[in-house]
Parts: sequence; structure tokens; C-alpha cells
Amino acid sequence: MDRIKEVVERARAAFNTGKSRPLEFRIQQLKALKRMLEEKEKEIAAALKADLNKNECNAYTYEIMTALGEVALAIDKLPQWAAPQHVEKTLMTLTDETYIHYEPLGVVLIMGAWNYPFALVVTPLIGAIAAGNAVVVKPSDISEHTAKLFEELLPQYLDKDLFPVVNGGIPESTELLKQKFDHILYTGNSVVGKIVMEAAAKHLTPVTLELGGKSPCYVDKDCDLDVACRRITWGKYMNCGQTCIAPDYVLCDRSIQDRIVETMKKTLTEFYGEDVKKSPDYERIVNKRHFSRIMSLLEGQKIVHGGDSDEATCFIAPTILADVNPESKIMKEEIFGPVLPIVSVKGVDEAIRFINQREKPLALYVFANKEIVKKMIAETSSGGVTANDVLMHFTLPCLPFGGVGNSGMGAYHGRYSFETFSHRRSCLVRALKMEAVNKLRYPPSSQKKVDWAKFFILKRFGKPKVGLAALALVGILVAVLVKNRKAVSRAQTLFAALAAQRIWKLGRS
Ligand code: NAD
Repeated sequence: MDRIKEVVERARAAFNTGKSRPLEFRIQQLKALKRMLEEKEKEIAAALKADLNKNECNAYTYEIMTALGEVALAIDKLPQWAAPQHVEKTLMTLTDETYIHYEPLGVVLIMGAWNYPFALVVTPLIGAIAAGNAVVVKPSDISEHTAKLFEELLPQYLDKDLFPVVNGGIPESTELLKQKFDHILYTGNSVVGKIVMEAAAKHLTPVTLELGGKSPCYVDKDCDLDVACRRITWGKYMNCGQTCIAPDYVLCDRSIQDRIVETMKKTLTEFYGEDVKKSPDYERIVNKRHFSRIMSLLEGQKIVHGGDSDEATCFIAPTILADVNPESKIMKEEIFGPVLPIVSVKGVDEAIRFINQREKPLALYVFANKEIVKKMIAETSSGGVTANDVLMHFTLPCLPFGGVGNSGMGAYHGRYSFETFSHRRSCLVRALKMEAVNKLRYPPSSQKKVDWAKFFILKRFGKPKVGLAALALVGILVAVLVKNRKAVSRAQTLFAALAAQRIWKLGRS
């Protein structure tokens, strides 16, 4: 286990040299990572096939392409993301520089999960590199082929000291978590999420926890059921139901349950053919432990479609359960498999109550008209929402992806990944001028000074013209405070200049 300590120490020593900070270096590393995605597409797809029976097309679409999109965006936008972000000034800091400087956090730990074992490591890695950090990469041991591939490929393309890979199971993860990191991004279940957070607390290390949960899908009576069922079927059975934001269960009025079941059955045949076992598009459960867990959820349920299984190959057919009791076992834990329970509710209000009585989910889906969609969004909480479709909010890099409450904390994707792995440093660069105004805060105190301070700090100016009046007032104040003719004339000149500048800006806008 000394090896793990050494790996983290080496990453910190490499970070401390400062080599990961320059933008040119970050972009060069991101370009190398992009090259890896392009050149090693076949090897990545083969590892995903071995781990999850993903076919080449699905491996490319859902893992490699996701990463390619993120890395291309980061390469393109990094100079803009990393640029100082100038912020609004107060009357007290009118002549100063005020901005946010994004700086790297240091050494980051990224722990991936097995269900999208490639994308769930590479996507946050892109953000961490873009932000200028060193990164210790810990892929999931359950998806062992992809884990091995990371260990082989990353050193061929990235700086070996800054971006090491640590493989192994619980003993290795436990040892890693004893080390001091500057941020940990963990993807996985909430039980381990708590272990990660506890270990991080010992070093006051901030965490991003990308967890799961039961993501509800409300289908309203008045929506287009054909389209709704096709979209739900796609999102539910993709990757054999092992998707963190898959719709976990359907909530609908009892009167449309049979139509939903029939439409989904038809769609399943369209997607996977008559014999789903032979479909190249249908994956397998990752291991026997998860196979048994999912099968045990079917006990005592009314199976209206599917239910077949084969333990030897970890196959579970796409399964639909009707009239599911909300108190049954399957409604108590995240399913994370190809089983869709349908629970009856009488309309949107009952659906909202149902959702709010449970833990906050990672995603929420609603198929309904705009009014009902807005009501759902306003009256519930979840990590993200897609209305009239499923999963698609995940694909937008301009939306932060993450959970809330039991489904996680923090978010990433696109610019949000860069921000997650950066410290927003507040910078105020003052001029050694305007001492007259600054006298307000120096002793001896007086009521007059407090009154002026109130004006400077608490007064808000909504309209540009009022801003000009404020400038004039500042001029008067300085004159009064300074009681010095030379200073008065200097202050007047300064404020005249500022006013002129403001008028010029107004004229241009
Ligand atoms: P997993 O078993 O691969 O575990 C995830 C990581 O935790 C791995 O790197 C593993 O090595 C480490 N780990 C496991 N047990 C540990 C322990 N006792 N101590 C320290 N580290 C340990 O993945 P999983 O938890 O089975 O993943 C499935 C869960 O992840 C589901 O709940 C799913 O919803 C969620 N998930 C969330 C997202 C998201 O983006 N929010 C994405 C994928 C999966």
C-alpha cells in the first residue's frame, strides 16, 4: 500500500513544479487525450464489450463520443473559461480592478463507476486537466477490462507523474482515500458515497458526489403515448437498465396502464427483435451479484412482460411490472436493471406528492403539456429534468450534471467541470489613490462617517442616469472630506473624467 501513497506524493510533487498550470500545457494534454480517443477507439470498444457486452456502435455513441464532445469543447473554450472574470464594482472600488481568477485546486481524485466505465472517468478527467490539476484516476474494479486499459493507455498519452492510474478493489480504494487530495469526484452508489465523504472530511477535502436514486417518470393521460413509450423504452433498457438517470419507474393514471404496456411491448420488438437474447443492441448485467439482486426484486410482482433470465450469461430480459405496490421492495431501492414498474396515481397532484415523499432523485421525467411540466418542475426537486423525453438533459454540456440531496452534490460537464475543479479566487487590486474616500473607514469613527459609509456601501443604483448622479455626489463628498483645495481640484478632475467615460459608454450602448 506504500505504492499508493507514493503515487499520490509523486502527483503532488509534479503539481508543485507548476507544470500543469500554463494554458498551453493544459491544451496540449487535452489534445493528447483527444488523440487517444481517436486512435484507440477499437481497444476502448473491445474493453466495453468484454465488461458489459456493449456493441461497437453503442460503445462509440455513449462513451467515446461523449468524451470527444467534452474534450473538443474544452480545447476550444478553455482560454475563455480561464480568463479573469471581471465583476461589478462598488462606489468604494470604482477605480480598482475587481475580478475572479480561476486557479487549479491541486491533486484531484476521480473515482469512476462501472456502468459507463470509460466516459465516467474520462469526462471528469477532461475538466480536471482543463482546470490545471494533477489527477489520480481510480477506475471501477468491476469493469476490469476498461480499468486495465486506462492503466495501459493514459501513460502513453498524458504526463505520467501528473495523471497516474490506480487500479484495485476496496483495499486499494480505502488506501487511496486515506491520502490527502484537494478534491474528490466520486461516481457510484450513495453507501460508498458516504464512505468517500467521511474520508474526505478528515482532510477537509471538498467532494463532488455523482450518485443515483430512483428517477420517476410521470406520464400524463393526455400525452402522445406512442412517442412517450418509445422514448421511455429507449432510456430504460439502454445498457440493460444500468444507467444512473434511467427512468426507474412510471407513474400514470390506471386507465392508461394497459396501453403503456402494449405500446412498450411493441417498441421492444422494434428495438431488439423477436428474440432479445440475440440482439446485438442488448447488453448484459455486469455480474452475478447484480443479477441476483435484480431478480430478487421481481418476487411477488405482476410481470406483464419479460421476466426471463439466464444466470450463466447474466441475461435478464426487458421486463415490465404492472399495478406495483408503492410499498414493495422494488420501490424501495434503485433498480439499476431492465425492470420497469408501473405505479398508478390519480393525476399530477398525486404524482407530485408521491415524488416528494421520497428521496430527491437524480433525474425527473414528465410527459405532459407545458402547464403540467412547469407545475412538476416548480413543485418537485431532482438533480435534473427532461420533459417529454428521457436522459437528454445529460447530453447538453451547457447544463450542469449532478444530483441533489440523496442523489449527490456538485455537478460537472462542459464549463461546470472546469469550475468544479477550480478555485474561484476573489481578486481586488486597489490603487494607492483616493485616500480621501478611504478615510471613511479609518479611526476616529463618527456618525457622519457611518452615514457616508452607508451611502457608499448600501445604496443601490438601478438606472444609468442615477449612476451619474452618484458620481457627482462622490465628488462632493470628497471635496467636503478633504477640505483641501488642491485635493478638491484633483478629485473634481477625476470624477469629471469618470463621468465623461460613463457618458461615452452610455452613448455607445
Ligand atoms: P462501483 O461498484 O464501480 O463503485 C464506484 C467506485 O467506488 C469504484 O471506483 C470502486 O472502486 C469504489 N468503491 C466501491 N466500494 C468501495 C468501498 N467500500 N470503499 C471505497 N471505495 C469503494 O459502482 P456502483 O456504486 O455499483 O455504481 C452504481 C451506482 O452509481 C448507481 O447507484 C448509479 O445510479 C450510480 N451512478 C451515478 C452516476 C452519476 O453520474 N450520477 C453515473 C453512474 C452511476
